[in-house]
Amino acid sequence: MPQIPSLPLNDGHSLPALGFGLWQVPGADTARVVEQALGLGYRLIDGAAIYGNEEGLGEGLRRSGLPREAVFVTTKCWNTDQGFDAALRAFDASLARIGLDRIDLYLIHWPCPQQGLFVDTWRALIRLRDEGRVTSIGVSNFHAAHLQRLVAETGVTPAVNQIELHPRLQQVTLRDSNRRLGIVTQSWSPLGRGRSFDAPVIRDIAARLGRSPAQVILRWHLDIGCSVIPRSTRLAGLAENLALSDFALTAGDLAALATLDAGERMGPDPDLFA
Ligand code: NDP
Repeated sequence: MPQIPSLPLNDGHSLPALGFGLWQVPGADTARVVEQALGLGYRLIDGAAIYGNEEGLGEGLRRSGLPREAVFVTTKCWNTDQGFDAALRAFDASLARIGLDRIDLYLIHWPCPQQGLFVDTWRALIRLRDEGRVTSIGVSNFHAAHLQRLVAETGVTPAVNQIELHPRLQQVTLRDSNRRLGIVTQSWSPLGRGRSFDAPVIRDIAARLGRSPAQVILRWHLDIGCSVIPRSTRLAGLAENLALSDFALTAGDLAALATLDAGERMGPDPDLFA
């Protein structure tokens, strides 16, 4: 079994540096993907209410036979569930669908600043953490200004900010701001859904190391200090994305990869998405 390093969180807990994501994994396939991934050695599952497959997440977890404490489960509060009471209800519904009594990491999925509710939602997450129903709380798609508001108005800093991050959107400024606040950056769509696989810089490094473009990109995320959650519904893809510990990128490789940043989003702008 591969040894997956952990990243310390600002609340005293820790987060596996590598996991797998369930966005767009069909409900009927989810239990199989989760069971296979856990069988290969993954220990972090990235789910969300909006993915529509929390039941499969729970089913795969139970089928794996692993003890609850061995697996780190993330899920997220969707935009239509923002606000104090609504977020508490949404959390209960996620928990019931997954079939657990505790989540390791609960995230606000998007800040939705036009709704003006993310601070109230954050207060609900603080309540859930204080009740022990969530071990760690965090956010996703938050910009520095949104983070600063949470801290200023509640005194509680998110443990994690899960953001779009891949070779074409390297998020240097936001990563730096997360780090200064003591927040771990977790990269979503870390493979950029394959859009950089053919970039000559990546092809050359992959050829020299005898690794795949996906492995080079995922190693880069770990080397720049991020937690990473690639998605694959194929057993071979899951295994490939886990095999990152027996090769290393050089400082020259990291410098070459940095040149691929194009500030190019695939997802919506968090300031505008409602
Ligand atoms: P990824 O960047 O992980 O890319 C997934 C795609 O790459 C799939 O088409 C997959 O196909 C393919 N792929 C995976 N591994 C390999 C490989 N080794 N070689 C070749 N192709 C490969 O995209 P996602 O958008 O799914 O992002 C990952 C996770 O991030 C999501 O599942 C979700 O958990 C999270 N996320 C969070 C968001 C947020 O707002 N917080 C938004 C979007 C995603 P195949 O299945 O055939 O291998």
